[in-house]
Amino acid sequence: MKRLLSITLLLLLTLAAHADKVKVRLYSNVTIKTLNISFDLGNYNLYADNDQLLEDQIGEGRSVLIRPEGKMLHVSVNETDYGTFANVRLEATDTACILCLNPESGKQRTYEGDLDISLLKSGSLLIVNNVEFETYLAGVVQSEIYGKKSDIFRIQAIISRTWALRNMGKHQADGYNFCDQVHCQAYLNRCIRPDIMMGAIQSSGETLVDEFGALIETPFHSNSGGETANSEDVWRAALPYLRSVADTFSLGMKQSDWVKTISQDRWLSYFAKTHKIDIHDSANLDTLLHFTQEHRCVRLLGIPLTRIRVDWQLRSTFFSIEVDSAAGNVILHGHGYGHGVGLSQEGTIRMVELGIPYDSILRHYYTGAVLHQDPYANRNYVEQYVDQIARIIEEDKNKKTQTRSKKDDWLGRLFRLRDREEREEIYIEEEQDNEKDWEYDW
Ligand SMILES: [Zn+2]
Repeated sequence: MKRLLSITLLLLLTLAAHADKVKVRLYSNVTIKTLNISFDLGNYNLYADNDQLLEDQIGEGRSVLIRPEGKMLHVSVNETDYGTFANVRLEATDTACILCLNPESGKQRTYEGDLDISLLKSGSLLIVNNVEFETYLAGVVQSEIYGKKSDIFRIQAIISRTWALRNMGKHQADGYNFCDQVHCQAYLNRCIRPDIMMGAIQSSGETLVDEFGALIETPFHSNSGGETANSEDVWRAALPYLRSVADTFSLGMKQSDWVKTISQDRWLSYFAKTHKIDIHDSANLDTLLHFTQEHRCVRLLGIPLTRIRVDWQLRSTFFSIEVDSAAGNVILHGHGYGHGVGLSQEGTIRMVELGIPYDSILRHYYTGAVLHQDPYANRNYVEQYVDQIARIIEEDKNKKTQTRSKKDDWLGRLFRLRDREEREEIYIEEEQDNEKDWEYDW
């Protein structure tokens, strides 16, 4: 009976662990008043007030302008003025349709799938992308990690998919699944890189589960500094798969080390005033000026290092202190970037470069986790074109600039084969937004 129950439970968990479409709020950190939408690929039907069709087959060369008017949205398409409505929807007429969003504040971005627009009480537009789950994931991977090898993207896709499936209800009260910021997962554009799409496709249906088949928490950070942290040292719960592990792969990477200089007076008075530490006690003083961490510590004089990290906006809690008496400063020598729990992205990049298999890398960072393949996985529609994507990646490696003749090719347009430099610009820009400190409530 018990066995039957656990099999049923496992089956339920497995069946629940995939999704078709997700609703993602775009530009969720910006106030958008006016939005201009143009069309890069395919045609869209424009609806207002739920089912009222305003115009069908809107495509390249046309643009939809939406702006608030009183408590309603004013809609026009090129020179045609349609009046005001409570909500607007742009529905893709085909699987591959691309919208280009140009808000009056905020950067231009492109997305696939449908768009729902309404007005928030604040007067800002609420823009929600209703998109295929795997298409969303590829966009997340592009926004969350850098690198050149497809296994890097495969790994990021697995942990991002696991997180998303576990957190589908995160913004339920707001009427959508996720925001597009690191509060959920960054989704700053649709995926325009064939190599990232390939990594995401290779990971289709793969998630990380615990020994009972339940999806695990998959926190990640930029760089562990050489040692990851236990979950309970950063948040509350001690999770068996989020254990501190030695991580030499993170050493010698971009975010491995940091230095911060603080005036000694400010440093000491912070502990005296904020934490009521007696700084005239010689033992306390010695600790505050000469604290060292060979391995990750959790507290300094009883104060959580996570609190000190937030108060001083440090890159990590993994630091040691040195005094510069001549200048009257303390110098913090730190390792890593981020909370340190779970997967180190730069450690992952290094491990992939060393040829370590992707499943071993995941097991290195998530102790005892099991890689699960969902046989019912909803795959990305571009998966049918894997061979052609492989060809594009190969051509991409060999050419500095894409030929414009590709413009009419369907896949070429999907990956927006613009100048290579232009693509790398989007990529580098997103790389900077790489700090992951999700606020976990466990
Ligand atoms: Zn969010």
